[in-house]
Amino acid sequence: MISTPSHYAYLKIAEVCDRKCSFCAIPGIRGGHVSRSSADIVKEAEGLVAGGVKEIIVISQDTTYYGLDLYKRRKIAGLLDSLAKVNPDGWIRLHYAYPHGFPLELLPVIREHQNICRYIDIPLQHINNRILRSMKRGLSSARTRKLVDTIRKEIPGIILRSSFIVGYPGETDQEYRELLEFVRETGFDRLGVFAYSHEEGTSAFKLRDDVSRKIKQERLEEIMEVQEGISLNKNLGRLGTNLKVLIDRKEGDSGCRQ
Ligand code: SF4
Repeated sequence: MISTPSHYAYLKIAEVCDRKCSFCAIPGIRGGHVSRSSADIVKEAEGLVAGGVKEIIVISQDTTYYGLDLYKRRKIAGLLDSLAKVNPDGWIRLHYAYPHGFPLELLPVIREHQNICRYIDIPLQHINNRILRSMKRGLSSARTRKLVDTIRKEIPGIILRSSFIVGYPGETDQEYRELLEFVRETGFDRLGVFAYSHEEGTSAFKLRDDVSRKIKQERLEEIMEVQEGISLNKNLGRLGTNLKVLIDRKEGDSGCRQ
């Protein structure tokens, strides 16, 4: 039974994750990564498409890890290739692509299928090396930047969404400015920023939550303000282009011509 409007659905390909991000309590509460079999996922997708779903949103805590537990290799590229064939008249969207160990073979699959959205949601969390190390993200600042460049080079025009945490324990003003500059120069298409939350059961809990709530909020708002300008410019750049869209609903006189 799907709880979303009938034209889109979330397709969960795995449960939990094997990462050790210092700020996250999920693996501790729910255990390690468990991939569903590709056959099972494709069967569910076929059922969704038969039921009228147009957009299938592929999710799990860590989609780029998919298959490593079950098939001993990352299989997200092959899985997306199969899902694209199941949904030729709709489209597939990939969420939560963890950057460390990102399977580069995924990029030509996205590029070559017209019905896989040129969109990747890749949570990067920070760009400063000390914080990335403390967060146990497994990726340095240089490798993070290189990955973003590679994705953009391989799939020109790809829409990149990311998320970041501000106010992580010990985050200095300089470390925060490094993140702000990264956001400014990278120009993400979509962005979520979260104030660090000190959670019991995480490895970061033993650190001192020493950035005040006020500063966390100020940093969050400053980045989002920068992002607003970036988003506005990107949206203005789309004026006059023709895009295939899915309409969620028509509300009153919204000026929508169907
Ligand atoms: S933040 Fe995501 S990838 Fe990291 S441990 Fe939590 S669920 Fe796993």
